[in-house]
Amino acid sequence: MLYFNGMPVELSSDGDFYTDNFTTDELRCRCASCNRQKPHSIPLLKLLKFQKLREKINRPFTPNSAYRCHQHPEEVAKENGPGEHNRGAMDIPCASGAEKGRLIEIALSLGAKGIGVYDDFVHVDFREGVLVVW
Ligand SMILES: [Zn+2]
Ligand SMILES: [Zn+2]
Repeated sequence: MLYFNGMPVELSSDGDFYTDNFTTDELRCRCASCNRQKPHSIPLLKLLKFQKLREKINRPFTPNSAYRCHQHPEEVAKENGPGEHNRGAMDIPCASGAEKGRLIEIALSLGAKGIGVYDDFVHVDFREGVLVVW
C-alpha cells in the first residue's frame, strides 16, 4: 500500500492509480474514440481530493463522467480546447437538493473551484483560480 498525505493509494498491476473507493475503470475516459484505452490520466493530487470528498460525503457513488481524453466528443466540441474533465473533474450523481447541498459544501471545503449544478448531478473540479459556479 502506498500512502499520500495519510490516504492509501495503490498502484494496480497495469500501472494505473486507484484509491480505496475509485477503480481505474470507473475513472477512465468512456468515449468511443479512445475506446476506453488506458491510461486515464486524472492527476494524482486531484484524484486524492476526490477520494477525500468521497470519504466525507460517506455514500457510494460512481461518477457519471470523470476523466475525458482529448478525443472525447464533448471535449473536442469546446471552443477553447479541452475543459476540466480533461484535467480530472467529476460529475457526481445526486438524488436530491439536500444531497447536492451537502456535496457542494464538502467540495468547497476541499478547495473545489468549479461547481456546476444540474438536474441529477453536480460537476466538481479542482481548477486553479477563482471559484466558478454554473
Ligand atoms: Zn476518450
Ligand atoms: Zn462535468
